[in-house]
Amino acid sequence: MSTRIEINKLVKVFGKGRAAARAVDGIDLTIESGELFFLLGPSGCGKTTLLRMIAGFIDPTEGAIRFDGKDVTHAAPNKRNTGMVFQSYALWPHMSVAANVAFGLKVRKISEPERSKRVKDALAAVQMEAYASRKPTQLSGGQQQRVALARAIVVRPNVLLLDEPLSNLDAKLRIELRSQIRNICKSSGITTVYVTHDQKEALSMADRIAIIRDGRIEQLGTPSELYRRPRDRFVAEFLGETNFIKGEATANGDSLSVRTPAGELTAARLDHSPDSGEVLCSIRPESIRLVEPGSPASLPGKRLETTYLGETAQHLVELKGAVRVKIAELNPPELRLDPARAPTEVAIAIDPSDVVVLPKA
Ligand code: ATP
Repeated sequence: MSTRIEINKLVKVFGKGRAAARAVDGIDLTIESGELFFLLGPSGCGKTTLLRMIAGFIDPTEGAIRFDGKDVTHAAPNKRNTGMVFQSYALWPHMSVAANVAFGLKVRKISEPERSKRVKDALAAVQMEAYASRKPTQLSGGQQQRVALARAIVVRPNVLLLDEPLSNLDAKLRIELRSQIRNICKSSGITTVYVTHDQKEALSMADRIAIIRDGRIEQLGTPSELYRRPRDRFVAEFLGETNFIKGEATANGDSLSVRTPAGELTAARLDHSPDSGEVLCSIRPESIRLVEPGSPASLPGKRLETTYLGETAQHLVELKGAVRVKIAELNPPELRLDPARAPTEVAIAIDPSDVVVLPKA
């Protein structure tokens, strides 16, 4: 059974008087049953504090937390049926993998035959059956992390809480484990709350993401909503590389015309786009195309630099008004990579749906 989590006006203040710090500053949030939900934000934004209040390790200063309508705001961790996985695995070194996974079932007084079956199933879910009798010190970091996950899911929690579970692993293993963890969470249907500061992890795994800044939710949405339609500069920058171009916007039916020092940009009108006045356009490097100079609706510029990265080339182009943009070109043609033949005079084109108009920062 999985659980719907409702969080109302949640606040956590650490310290008193002048030294008081609002680590979580009035969060309202509903996480649906079975959802894989991410809390994403820079270091110190309050995401771990929020996760620990959901787990019951930290007592909120104000507000409420409900699991399926039941108030658990001040309930002890062991009364919430949550499973938690920490950054530092926290496996017991003297116990075998199977004993580590079985521990929570023993505490819950689950009888032996049932215990063995559930340990076997949980280890199978993380593809670690073959390692049941090993000690944690005989496992790689990725294997230890999978055992920690098995230990959390074996007790069949209603809510799974993951605190930067991949941060101690190397880059290749992190990418491998992303899809494994997502598959385990989705196939078991457990409501999962996952804390990370790694935007790629969140974009590749989440059903929905809350971007947290200074203890508040800056924006909430699916990965593509947040990446393609950020609401402000902070979210646009936090989720990946982008180009910012300042300009003056005028509404034009369904679109906006933005006068910039580099020329006129046309942008699709979004719900939260300002209609007029000074604005900031956010344009992702991969959404800018290099086109023939003089092409319709293009902006002329000079190519200053090209860096070849195999699958992509990164170009630095200076437009009119000394506006510089980064462009990521997938599968770049040879010509553009040859310094002797590559043209310096270029032009760029951008689809209106790729120009995101933000309030001036
Ligand atoms: P990180 O990614 O670095 O773990 P985070 O977003 O998880 O950061 P939190 O650990 O939730 O951030 O901390 C939020 C703020 O609350 C920080 O400014 C932190 O210093 C402060 N804080 C956290 N725990 C305590 C505590 N026990 N006492 C006092 N201040 C605390």
